Amino acid sequence: MNKGDSVMSGYRDLSVARKACAKELGSVAVGSLHRANHFGDVATMVVVPALTITLTILIGKVVHNPVAWIALFILQGFVFQTYQFLVHDLFLHRRVGGRWHSIFGFLYLLPLLFPYAWFHAFHMQHHKYIGSDRDTESYKQDLDQVWKRILFLTFPGVKMAMSRRFKPAGVDDSAAALQMTPELARRIAREKSLIRIYMLALTVAAIF
Ligand SMILES: [Zn+2]
Repeated sequence: MNKGDSVMSGYRDLSVARKACAKELGSVAVGSLHRANHFGDVATMVVVPALTITLTILIGKVVHNPVAWIALFILQGFVFQTYQFLVHDLFLHRRVGGRWHSIFGFLYLLPLLFPYAWFHAFHMQHHKYIGSDRDTESYKQDLDQVWKRILFLTFPGVKMAMSRRFKPAGVDDSAAALQMTPELARRIAREKSLIRIYMLALTVAAIF
């Protein structure tokens, strides 16, 4: 057994699941899912920030009824979550914006306060090693109960899952760590500095 074999020891073959999905949906439906929709791309890039700004104004200035306020607050949380899907689909995988995809990715991740350079590297390692013990997102396998999945809808829940708080006893997650390079560390540090400036500007804007 060579080194590669031992690393891939926990590998789960996903081709069976892929074939079953393709058979269930049919080739036409699968093909239509992969077709680019440029109007949809631009609409998403405009509608999500517009919704965020509208909800922020409503919550901060307009709505005072407690029930309506809480409903809007929860809705705002779901809108925030869409940024991750937006960045994942548009910039990370499809590279909308070409060579500017990382700038778009950074800007559209700002509301979630984490760096695009980190998300890109972390998620690409997930795709590369999916189904093995090197999968950076193997923490999702820990979400085996409904209450964990509900908690995962919240920011603290995401933090807890990603730091492997829900990990079953005996599972070794050491191989799932992000493979860091000095260049990647520099890019992440640079983006974190910009995120701190954004947070400062947001705080100042909230006061005045
Ligand atoms: Zn992906």
